[in-house]
Amino acid sequence: MISVIIETREVYAPRRETAGRSPVWMRAAMGVLAAWLWAAVAFGAPPVSPVGRNYEGRLAQAMADNDQRQTEAVLEEWWQEASKAEAGDNTEHENVLKATLKLLSNRSQSWRLVAVSVMARHGTAADCAGAASVLSGRDQIDEKRWLVRSLGRKPGESTYKYLELFAKEREYLIRCAAIQAMADLNDVRAVPLLPAYMNSNMPATVRNWNDDDRSCLSMAGYGVARKFLGVRVTGLDQVRLWTPPPLDAPKPAPAALVFTPGSVGGHEMYMIPSFDVYLAIEGVKDPAGVPSPQGMDLQTMLERCAETALRFAEPTFGRVYLPPVRLYLADAKRFSGLAGTPTSFGGVSKGNEIVVRYDNPQVVPGTLIHEYVHVLHQATFEKQPRWLMEGVAESLTRSAKQTVWTRERVAAAGLTDALPDPSPNARRVNKSLVRDVLSWSSGAATGEQESRRYNSAHLLVDFLRFGPWAAPDLRLAALMGRLSRGQAASTAIQDLYGGSAADMDRWIVEWLDRQQAQEP
Ligand SMILES: [Zn+2]
Repeated sequence: MISVIIETREVYAPRRETAGRSPVWMRAAMGVLAAWLWAAVAFGAPPVSPVGRNYEGRLAQAMADNDQRQTEAVLEEWWQEASKAEAGDNTEHENVLKATLKLLSNRSQSWRLVAVSVMARHGTAADCAGAASVLSGRDQIDEKRWLVRSLGRKPGESTYKYLELFAKEREYLIRCAAIQAMADLNDVRAVPLLPAYMNSNMPATVRNWNDDDRSCLSMAGYGVARKFLGVRVTGLDQVRLWTPPPLDAPKPAPAALVFTPGSVGGHEMYMIPSFDVYLAIEGVKDPAGVPSPQGMDLQTMLERCAETALRFAEPTFGRVYLPPVRLYLADAKRFSGLAGTPTSFGGVSKGNEIVVRYDNPQVVPGTLIHEYVHVLHQATFEKQPRWLMEGVAESLTRSAKQTVWTRERVAAAGLTDALPDPSPNARRVNKSLVRDVLSWSSGAATGEQESRRYNSAHLLVDFLRFGPWAAPDLRLAALMGRLSRGQAASTAIQDLYGGSAADMDRWIVEWLDRQQAQEP
């Protein structure tokens, strides 16, 4: 069960606060920290680990073998060993930190991700902030962003101050990671920073979604504001004038979740925390009249779908804080007009809006979770290609914890002929599942071809999430980052996964075979 509450806090004591700059000493301290970390890598004596463990040797071997997963495993074990040292004994921590930073200075992003993933899990706030501050905000954005976001799991005196610095960087992905990490830490000092992120209109009221960095910043700003203020945030002044309630103030009694009617852009919208809901169902005037699926009342079902999508997405995206999303529940007759797609679709989304066809209530939750994944994906990364949007939504929705794909399923979906046949006397087929997926950029269409593309994209993203990679979640996030910067998908995949489309086809077959072998 998830419980959903709306806090009703209606008294705002006016107080203006200027977004404070970090003190000079703090920026100086970061500079020193960065310089020290760099010097440790460049000039430090080679690390010496406890006798018998030989982490350096094993690490060097794994790297010489070009084995990233083994490299990750050795580093992981080494960090765990370092965490067992007695208080005051930093030797092992410094050793593993040096080794990790050395890997982080590797010229290949694919290798740097291994270092970043392990450091984000085990490093201290100072380790991660220091490493992030030496990474370039232009060429190493994906690594830097992951480290900045990891600070949200590392509470401590200095953490907020580090984040304040990252919140002022130019790159939107770093800035968004910084305030979301502040939200992870539940540190209300973030609130005065938020107006700089927020557009003057709250996202759910904006008619056209601009798929750009400004929209991502605004979604993050409004989403984090909603978390801190505990209410539907409609504008900048509401945030500027907000003061945290005094510590000894009685907690407002959580109100039961109810639809609150209101008018938005001439539409009668019903508001609940995650959605502004518009009813376009013949003969239904009120949310209470909407037939509810799976024995749940409508509010609970809608909120639960949003929460499920956020939870499934967390390993790849981190916790995404979103403002309310505009949601149309439409019957078959009104659906096409609102969604701008064929009626065969169950739902459609763009950025701040979802349209769901509401003629078969039982299938609505699955559709809504899929569409909500699109929203959180587009709120995080700009300019995502269609294949990745659909692949990620299908994979997170249908393969949340593990892949559902087997050779039988591939055959049933009619995809066998798109993958190479490894048997010795197989005919050579000039088809490539991965190449087909990467070329999928068109809008919604109908027909067999479309469902084949959904399946292929789902299979490919499952392979990226569960296949034989070190740091798969970070790697997928780095792919999204590269594509948001306009890089060609085939180049990004070659760099991050080490293979061409044809290699990936072959590896998918091998991966499916291995899964088959592992089954009881
Ligand atoms: Zn979709």
